[in-house]
Amino acid sequence: MAAAQYTVHTSTLFDPKKKAFVTNVSITVDPTSGLIVDVYERKPDSLGSTVPEGDVDLRGKIVMPGFVDAHTHIMLHSYDERPALNQKRDESIPERIIRATHHCRTALLAGYTTYRDLSSESMGEMDAQIRDCINRGLIPGPRLFVATRALASTGSYELRSENHANGVCYPRGGEAVDGVDEIRTAVRRRVAAGADLIKFFVDYRRRIMRYPPAQQHPYIPGSLHPPKDPNPDYLVFAQEEVEAIVKEAAMAKMPVVCHAGTIEGAIMAVKAGVATIEHAYFANEELFKLMVEKDCLFVPTLAICERVHAKRFHEIMEQSKLAYKLGVRFAAGGDTGTYPHGQSVRELELLREAGMPLEETLESCTVGGWEACGKDLCGMRFGWFEKGLRADIIALRTDPREDPKALRRVDFVMKDGNIFKRDGKAVGMIADDHEWDR
Ligand SMILES: [Zn+2]
Repeated sequence: MAAAQYTVHTSTLFDPKKKAFVTNVSITVDPTSGLIVDVYERKPDSLGSTVPEGDVDLRGKIVMPGFVDAHTHIMLHSYDERPALNQKRDESIPERIIRATHHCRTALLAGYTTYRDLSSESMGEMDAQIRDCINRGLIPGPRLFVATRALASTGSYELRSENHANGVCYPRGGEAVDGVDEIRTAVRRRVAAGADLIKFFVDYRRRIMRYPPAQQHPYIPGSLHPPKDPNPDYLVFAQEEVEAIVKEAAMAKMPVVCHAGTIEGAIMAVKAGVATIEHAYFANEELFKLMVEKDCLFVPTLAICERVHAKRFHEIMEQSKLAYKLGVRFAAGGDTGTYPHGQSVRELELLREAGMPLEETLESCTVGGWEACGKDLCGMRFGWFEKGLRADIIALRTDPREDPKALRRVDFVMKDGNIFKRDGKAVGMIADDHEWDR
């Protein structure tokens, strides 16, 4: 039986399209289609102290679209708990899946209704399969747009050990591909495997054994006299290979996401037409101007930089400041998973610290997030309030214009017209428990 439509009444609502807080807006949603069916401004005093039966009263709270995290890894948990290498090598598939299930629930309860999940981290296509489990209502979680396996060239983004003699075997992570033909095949394989977007590495730390016993990521400098930069980022693809990725993905109407650590690599990718640049640990005016020209979004992942690039963090923050000043469009995503799921808003707090106004920050984790998912290529709209968009609505207990921690105080979460958190408490956590289903 189709569930009845109902209306959410708000007193203060953040409108990402206007980049402004507006008053007295009501939103009617359809939990069956998961869509917003109407958005209207109420006349003053049109509601009494209570709302009509079946409606939701969010007056007194700060309402906004569900957050979008543009750079996550559901398959990872915090590097503070265990380095990535050990997670991939030592944790069983059931453990990693169960952890991912927890991560998805935690993210949703923190207000994240969409995750752009940028590679399964040695879990093959299981990110796509978890996405499907969420979409089938088996587990609660954000709407996922997944990359499955990232592409990189031979010997670049691959788990390696210094001991191959006894057949040491690591689970395969990214796809190692070389040359235009292999790249075309690999993109086609990703499309068929259920990817929503194509992620590739344009550069990476390639020289694992340049100065033994230094290890690949996570880097453990064990050498007595290491050179200044023992394992720098170098290009892993040539320009024609990068162009082949973008062209092949375009045939399948898929956005391309590029991990870039070097200015050189980022410029190559932007020229080829990628949708987003991740990290850009090194960046300059030339790169940012090109990104503006080519309409390429920036996902600076400040939250992971704060942890792993602490020495250069001030410089990295200055780069984001420069990008904002030059008019680059941002999508907020901190590389969530490398630090705990549920704390994605750390990225938003850091964007504020880098000088971005609150309204712009909130736009980068709503409309910016949708754009990073490929805009209309992703097959749906979300991230602002309009008829026909996914009904993703969250409410904060305090006002972010006054309380710097307000984005951590998520009191209400709705995704696709279904409520998952109400008055600060989880609801609808199992498929049969949706309020509209009773
Ligand atoms: Zn990442």
